[in-house]
Amino acid sequence: AKNDGRNLYRFFEPGMDAVVQARRALEVDLEAALPRQEFDLDFQPIMNIASGEIIGAEALMRWHSPARGRVAPDDFIPVAEETGLIVPLGEWALRKACAVAASWPPGLRIAVNVSAVQLKSSGFARSVISALAFSGVPAGQLELEITETVLMDESKAVLKTLRQLRELGIRIALDDFGTGYSSLGYLRRFPVDKIKIDRSFIRDMGNRDSAAIVRTIIGLGAELGIVVTAEGVETERQLDMLRDNGCVEAQGYLIGVPSKPAEIQRLLKSRATR
Ligand code: C2E
Ligand code: CA
Ligand code: CA
Ligand code: CA
Repeated sequence: AKNDGRNLYRFFEPGMDAVVQARRALEVDLEAALPRQEFDLDFQPIMNIASGEIIGAEALMRWHSPARGRVAPDDFIPVAEETGLIVPLGEWALRKACAVAASWPPGLRIAVNVSAVQLKSSGFARSVISALAFSGVPAGQLELEITETVLMDESKAVLKTLRQLRELGIRIALDDFGTGYSSLGYLRRFPVDKIKIDRSFIRDMGNRDSAAIVRTIIGLGAELGIVVTAEGVETERQLDMLRDNGCVEAQGYLIGVPSKPAEIQRLLKSRATR
């Protein structure tokens, strides 16, 4: 094993930089957390703006560490990516999310975040197909959220995997849209069904430049036939502006906070009219 006692001993030798030591300790805790079942998923509802219906939810990973308390995904996901733990961890999330969504009213979407490392790992498509088969969730109800970094190296293998998943009916969403590099080029080259406008643009919609960017992305989506979702919608005013500009979907604290499976199921049953 990678983390046997001898290696640990070597890692914590005196004089080692404190930052490096803290980081190594986090890696060790993270590695142990998956077999100890310290991870959980919360689900945040996504609304169709025009109809007001909840159309599904995004699975968001949670780590409750006995030693550290709650650790934010932004603090542990990058570490899991660097150590490679994101591959089994991401596969766990996918299976768990599908298992939860299997008991939702039919037709509702389940969105799952997929790291670049995961997408590039061999056998990713197979693990997605297996999660669907095992849960009984139809491919058409699964949405995989990827970020532009996945697309940046333009690898043939990634493109092939995305095409394969899409042929099955799985939707691909581009997450945090607008924060990466040359987003527009990727839209032309890669198969994408949805773009999610990054929260930072929605938050700043009160100022003219951000409002213009949001309007432009919405227009672009309409032109290209790509669904546009606004992330981080917190106020009625933001929702009104998005509605006025024809944004298709909204997600954020105003619509609903990330919640436990039982809670989201209640919400989905009461607010999805199907
Ligand atoms: P993300 O995919 O962009 O997820 C949206 C984040 O915004 C979530 O943070 C959510 O709790 C938060 N959020 C939602 N609505 C609002 C709002 O109205 N206001 C504000 N201020 N925040 C809002 P969270 O759960 O801390 O996750 C952070 C990031 O960690 C995610 O960003 C995603 O990149 C990553 N992540 C979470 N779960 C997974 C996972 O299962 N796999 C992978 N690879 N990454 C994940
Ligand atoms: Ca996401
Ligand atoms: Ca996002
Ligand atoms: Ca993000």
